[in-house]
Amino acid sequence: MPTQKKDREENVLPATGMLAKSRESLRSACERLSIHPDVFEELKWPRETLAATLLIRMDDGSRRAFKSWRCRYNDRRGPTKGGVRFHPNVSLDEIETLSFWMTFKCAVANLPFGGGKGGVCVDTKALSANELERLSRAYIEAFAPFIGPDRDILAPDMYTNGIVIAWMADEYSSISGQASPSAITGKPLAFGGTNGRVDATARGGYYTLRHLESSLALDPDTATVAIQGFGNVGYHCAKLLHADGYKIIAISDSGGGIYDKSGLDPLAVMQHKHETGGVKGAKGQGKTKEISNAELLELECDVLVPAALERQITLDNCDKINARIILEMANGPVSPEADRKLSEAGQIIVPDILANSGGVTVSHLEWVQNRSGFYWDSSRVRDHLKQTMETETQAIWALHNEMGLSMRDAAYTHGLRRIAESVEARGTPA
Ligand code: GLU
Repeated sequence: MPTQKKDREENVLPATGMLAKSRESLRSACERLSIHPDVFEELKWPRETLAATLLIRMDDGSRRAFKSWRCRYNDRRGPTKGGVRFHPNVSLDEIETLSFWMTFKCAVANLPFGGGKGGVCVDTKALSANELERLSRAYIEAFAPFIGPDRDILAPDMYTNGIVIAWMADEYSSISGQASPSAITGKPLAFGGTNGRVDATARGGYYTLRHLESSLALDPDTATVAIQGFGNVGYHCAKLLHADGYKIIAISDSGGGIYDKSGLDPLAVMQHKHETGGVKGAKGQGKTKEISNAELLELECDVLVPAALERQITLDNCDKINARIILEMANGPVSPEADRKLSEAGQIIVPDILANSGGVTVSHLEWVQNRSGFYWDSSRVRDHLKQTMETETQAIWALHNEMGLSMRDAAYTHGLRRIAESVEARGTPA
């Protein structure tokens, strides 16, 4: 970046928070590729973020206010795309950071989308189904002018499952006065969803890992895996890897975890979670021990799969990581500082914008099917997903080797090239 003034954004707004830190990956990729400063300037901040307070009538007759946001980070490659997160700790900085990551994720997967994200500050476990429905519909009502199949396309994220998405899609169609299935992906099959969306995020990471097996000297017959998070992504990841011979030695959820060096059967652990509400207490093949989430991250294993929240591995615990490979199935589970330290020490981290891009890749297929009105079978969806993951994994692995970059830097470089091309194609000054 020849003429970029490093402190330009710090003059305007303080360089604190998750977005400011995450932006460092962009800054170094811009410098590496000598990208025109205009591109960095454009990508520093989201294009637009809307905030709304959702006022919901609770079952007991009272009213409650919920803070919510929708961010469209950058739309040069196409309409913005990203999920809606329902979580008590959602904040503006988190939503903008997640939408920044979505911008790069969509570019890495070569989708015709920019990045977006939304969220509501709410503990869904404390709401009744009726309250949750009112909240989901109110979210769409608040942001409807922002949303659209060619503008901003929503999807599931943490605690927004198929039924929440169905309420949202139904509300959007009511407001727009016509069937508009392609404005929201992750819908149930009977409501214009696609085959293969439920396990797409996990399956994408699985294809990436399997593609890297020989490069990473991983032998499925002996490799051990620890998984943090047992929601949709963690569960399906465990299931797919277990079916191929990988030994799942630890699993956790928000209530704590279990460890069994003889191995755990993900189906049995899920059964236990259904019955009791958590993974704690489930039995594995041998002597099963209870462990904390922090202990799980420090286990000796071949592959550590953080599949829960961001910032789980930070400077506080990165020296205690004993996994050979980290497969980031959550968004941003390793802090930038920890990432730098671990990467410098030679740790392989398969970054989120590659590893978990399978979800949005299949969301794109849902959008394509909704628009064409022709629906694909599971094997066609899976073949496409496999091919996409392998192509992009290969390209990033090659950059990692050729340029001596960490996989994260290689992924940002790969995505940035595509984003910069689409900015320059519109006539950026030479
Ligand atoms: N929420 C998912 C993600 O973070 C999926 C987004 C989508 O399908 O648009 O990648």
